[in-house]
Amino acid sequence: MNYLDTDIRYCKGIGEKKALLFNKLGVFNVRDLVSYFPRKYEDRSSFKPIALTCDGETVCINALAAEDARLVRIRRGLELVKFRVVDESGSVDITFFNQPYIKNNIHRGDCLNIYGKIIGVGGKRTMTNPVIEREGTVGGVTGRIVPVYRLTTGLSQKLIISAVRQALDASAAELPEVLPESLRKKYKLAQTGYSYENIHFPASFEDLELARRRLVFEELFLLACALGKMKGSHSKQSGIPMREQNIEEFFSSLPFVPTGAQKRAVSDAVRDMQSGKAMNRLVQGDVGSGKTLVAAALVWYAWKNGYASAFMAPTEILANQHFETLSGFLKPFGLRIGKLTGSMTAKQKREVKAELAAGELDLIIGTHALFSEDVEYKNLALVITDEQHRFGVNQRSSLISKGEKPHVLVMSATPIPRTLALIIYGDLDISVIDEMPPGRQKVDTFAVTESYRTRLNGFIRKLVSEGRQVFVVCPMIEENEELPPNVKSAQEHAAELQKYFPNLKVACVHGKLKAKEKNEIMQSFVAGDIDILVSTTVIEVGVDVPNAALMIVENADRFGLSQLHQLRGRVGRGEHKSYCVLVSDNDNEATQARLKVMTKTNDGFKISEEDLKLRGPGDFFGSRQHGLPAMHVADLGSDMNVLQTAQQAAHELLTSDPELSAPEHAQLKTAVERLFTVNSDTSVSYTHLTLPT
Ligand code: ADP
Ligand code: MG
Repeated sequence: MNYLDTDIRYCKGIGEKKALLFNKLGVFNVRDLVSYFPRKYEDRSSFKPIALTCDGETVCINALAAEDARLVRIRRGLELVKFRVVDESGSVDITFFNQPYIKNNIHRGDCLNIYGKIIGVGGKRTMTNPVIEREGTVGGVTGRIVPVYRLTTGLSQKLIISAVRQALDASAAELPEVLPESLRKKYKLAQTGYSYENIHFPASFEDLELARRRLVFEELFLLACALGKMKGSHSKQSGIPMREQNIEEFFSSLPFVPTGAQKRAVSDAVRDMQSGKAMNRLVQGDVGSGKTLVAAALVWYAWKNGYASAFMAPTEILANQHFETLSGFLKPFGLRIGKLTGSMTAKQKREVKAELAAGELDLIIGTHALFSEDVEYKNLALVITDEQHRFGVNQRSSLISKGEKPHVLVMSATPIPRTLALIIYGDLDISVIDEMPPGRQKVDTFAVTESYRTRLNGFIRKLVSEGRQVFVVCPMIEENEELPPNVKSAQEHAAELQKYFPNLKVACVHGKLKAKEKNEIMQSFVAGDIDILVSTTVIEVGVDVPNAALMIVENADRFGLSQLHQLRGRVGRGEHKSYCVLVSDNDNEATQARLKVMTKTNDGFKISEEDLKLRGPGDFFGSRQHGLPAMHVADLGSDMNVLQTAQQAAHELLTSDPELSAPEHAQLKTAVERLFTVNSDTSVSYTHLTLPT
C-alpha cells in the first residue's frame, strides 16, 4: 500500500480521537493531510530590534531574559508570570496569564525568540501571552514563515503543524509527480516535493509563490484533464444525425410565444443534433425562465425524426410534474409518453419497460429508475436531465451509455458566472436562457430578525385567509445537539406553527421520510390540502405550486445565496403577488450584507456573482452541489490566468494522448481518475443539508 493512503489515526501523535476531528476537516489519510494547505501565513521570519517596533505591531523579536521569571498572585484564579527581556536597542516587559509553569522555564540570560503584539512605546513596551521559544529550537514556529490552518474545536495550530510536518517527512519520497517533466519545463513549474514542503513551511515568500503556482496549476490542470477527457470521449463520438424539421410547427401550437432566449437555446441544440456529432449541451436558466419548453421542443424534434427521448428528473415529484407539463405540450401531436419512477408497482414498471424495449414510447419521463440496469431502450436518441447539479458527473455518463450515442441535454437552474461555468461544466457546451417570460412578477423579499415573529405570523394568517399557501424552510430536520440551540428544526418548528395556528393545516416534509410519504405530503400540498408546508431543503428543486405565495426561510444565514434564490423561486409561479421572508438573528456584518443582496435583486446570475464575491470561490466549489471536487489552493478569482493556461495545456496533452496511456502520463492518469472517484459518493445525495461551515 502507498504510504499516502495510510489512515491518519495511525500517524504519530494523532490516534482515534483526534482522527475524528481531522475527519471533520476532510482529512482522512496522509494524502489529505499533506494536501490540507494553510489558510494563510504569519511572517515570523525576521527579527526586529525592539526599538524599531511600533505600538500595536505584531512582531518577532530576539532578546535576552534580563531576569528570572517571577510569579505574581493577584488573587485566587489570577496568576501572572512576569519578566523583562532586552536586546541592544531596548526592552519589553512580558506577561503570561495563568500559565504558572512558565516561571520555571525562564531564567536570566536565556536567549529567546518571541512572537507577539507590542503594546506601548519607549521603555514601556509590553507583550502579553506571546509565542516564546528558546533560540535554535528545531522545528520551531519563530524565525520563519509559519502556516496558519483552518481549525476545528479540539485541534490546535500546533497539533496540525506537527502532524503535517511528520506526514511530509514520512511521505516525501512517495509524493507522485503527476505533471510530466516536459510540461513542468514548458510552464516553469516547481517539483512536487519542493511544492508540498514550501506550501506548508515556506523558506521564503518567493518559495511560497513558486510552490503555490505549481500546485494551483496542478489542481486546475487535473480538473481540466478530467473534464476534457470526458468531453473528448463523448464528443469525438459521432451522434445520430437529425434531419431539418420546421420547429415553428411546434412553437405555434403553444398557448404563448416562446422568448428569444428559449428559441436561441432550442436552435443551439438543434444545430448540435444535426451536426452528426453527439450533442452535449447545458441549458442554464434561472428558475422560471422556461427550460421545460426547450426540452419539449427538442423531444418533439427527435420524434419528428423518428426517435425516442428520455427525460430524467431528480425527484419523483418533479418527474410527475414534468410528466404532466410535457404531456400537455406533446400529446396533441400524438407522442406516446410513459413514466417510470421508484414508487410504481412492480407490475406497472414491468409494463413500461416492455413498452420501452419494444419501441412503443416516444418519451419516457422518470427518476434515477430510468438508468437501472434492467431498463432497455429502443431508438433512444435524446437524453435530457433536469437540475443536473444534483446528479453529478458520473450518473450522467451512466445514462448516456443506455443509448446508441444519444444526444445529451442537461438543464440547470443554478445560474453561475461564465468563468465558473467554464470549469464546472467544462465538458459541456452552454446555452444560457437570460430572459424571463413576459409578465413575471417580482417576488418581494425581506430580511428580518426574530423580533418580527409576531408580525410574520400575522402575515401568514392573512395570506392563508386569502386562500394562499405558505412554504417554510428550516436548516435541519430534528433537534441536533451539535448545532446552536437557536437553529430551527423542521419538525419542531412545524409543531410550533401548528400550535400557533390550530385551525390551519400544517405539515412537515424532509429528506429522512420515505419517498412515498414525501410524495404524499407534497402531492397534498400541490392539491391545496395543506396550508403551511414546513420542510428542509428537499423542496429546493423545481416543484410547481402556483398557489404558494409566501416563502419563509428560517436561519437564512445558514444558506448560500444561490440556494436562497432557488428556494425563493418556489413562489411567484402563479398569478398571485408573492413574498419571500428571510429570518435571521445573525448580526454579523458580512451575513447581513449577504441577505441584503437577496432583497435587492431577483436576478439569479447577479446573485451568484455576489455569492461568489462574498463567499469566495473555494466555498462555491466546496458546496458539493456541482459534483466537482473542492479546490484546495486555486482561487478562481485571482487565478483565472492560470486556469486558462492549464486548460490550454490539458487540451494539448489530451490531443496528443487522449487516453493518457503514455508511460510518462501514468501518474497523471491515476490522479485524474482519483479526482472523480473520490468525489462520486458525495455528489449523489440531494436530500442532504448543505449547511455552510
Ligand atoms: P424552469 O426554467 O424553472 O424549469 P418552467 O419551464 O417550469 O421554468 O417554466 C415556468 C413557467 O413559465 C411555466 O408555467 C411555463 O408554462 C411558463 N412559460 C414558459 N415559457 C413561457 C413563455 N415563453 N411565455 C409565457 N410563459 C412561459
Ligand atoms: Mg424546471
